[in-house]
Amino acid sequence: MKLNVTGYDKTAKKYVTADALKKVSNGNSKGYFETEVEYEDASDPIVVKFKNTTYINNTLTGKDKQDVEDHEKRHFTDFKKLAEAMKKGAEKALKAGLDPQIKERVEWLFYDRCVTSAAFHREGGGYSVEICSKPDSKRPA
Ligand SMILES: [Zn+2]
Repeated sequence: MKLNVTGYDKTAKKYVTADALKKVSNGNSKGYFETEVEYEDASDPIVVKFKNTTYINNTLTGKDKQDVEDHEKRHFTDFKKLAEAMKKGAEKALKAGLDPQIKERVEWLFYDRCVTSAAFHREGGGYSVEICSKPDSKRPA
């Protein structure tokens, strides 16, 4: 059984209006880092496809723009690390002949993404702090 995880290590950047931003992000008007995932765990190879998009308000300039770019880049870097760890965990399980638990790993990845993001926002202040709901499943080893 093989595992094919793609897309987690890149992000598309989109410069959009504040209205468009608020729509995709549930209220942020400056910037937003979005991750979508699709997976097929009954196939061989198992396929996990991530799609990252960084949205930046297209009216920002100068330092304001740079600050938002840096902020969203941190979200992307944090996510990339978490996704790499998730990939490694699934590969390790497969190698050991165990169920890779893709569904659970994806749930926990998004939970970890939320917790990491909340911690980053607490450092800086001024950004909304998210409520992260823990998956019902047991965290895969
Ligand atoms: Zn943020």
